[in-house]
Amino acid sequence: MTQESFLPDPEGPEAEPEFDAPHDRERPDEPDFEPDFDSDQPANASAAALAATASTLDELREAAAGCRGCDLWQDALQTVFGEGPYSDAAAEPERIEMVFIGEQPGDREDVEGRPFVGPAGALLDRALGDAGIDRTKAYVTNTVKHFKWRPQPVRGQGFRGTGKRRIHQKPNQEQINACRPWLDAELGMLKPRLVVCLGATAAQALLGRSFRVTRQRGQLFDGPGGLRYTATVHPSSILRADSSQREAAYADFVDDLRNALAALS
Ligand code: SF4
Repeated sequence: MTQESFLPDPEGPEAEPEFDAPHDRERPDEPDFEPDFDSDQPANASAAALAATASTLDELREAAAGCRGCDLWQDALQTVFGEGPYSDAAAEPERIEMVFIGEQPGDREDVEGRPFVGPAGALLDRALGDAGIDRTKAYVTNTVKHFKWRPQPVRGQGFRGTGKRRIHQKPNQEQINACRPWLDAELGMLKPRLVVCLGATAAQALLGRSFRVTRQRGQLFDGPGGLRYTATVHPSSILRADSSQREAAYADFVDDLRNALAALS
């Protein structure tokens, strides 16, 4: 399959950006739109306090389901924790060589409770395949574990509109900091050989606020936890790119992923 045939049809629903634009899924009806959290959790259950109670990845995932470390849990359906082939139940868990970190779950991830299952995830899957990376052997997660969104504005009502579509909003620094213990704990337990930051939010959270993906993508860095890091764009940026530039943006993304794979050899 060529890259051209892989890329979402610019006119089709898959081309709809995951970020900074209305989603194609309508907001669930209010009766079902309740956050999934453990009501036994204390009201101030911070990420750091909960993460400290877990000694395995499975326990970490379970604890994160009840996190109230910032305000984002209130409007999301559920915590979207990282996932990969790693299982604490396995006698010899598979070594995770690469961890991919995005910004936050999108609309579809929030509904399904899994990271990178929307349009950007589909693009990531194909790019990993084109780069020779088996996604089923990689762990994927996000910098922030709850979906931050606002209702679609309604014409004539400005930003106070209450349309049914949920529109992505970028997490702020306070929310990124609040969620950081989950990411640190994931990386600390997995100890991957390489961490790949997808987009500026992940890269700046882990490699410093002055990190610029446009200038520093594809390079290798030593970073938190004594791990090696690299960064590239978030796949949603390719979906957002002007159609005349999308093929080139995709090719550059695959090149970065190939370089990441080469760094493991
Ligand atoms: S975004 Fe992170 S810190 Fe905030 S409630 Fe969700 S899991 Fe907790």
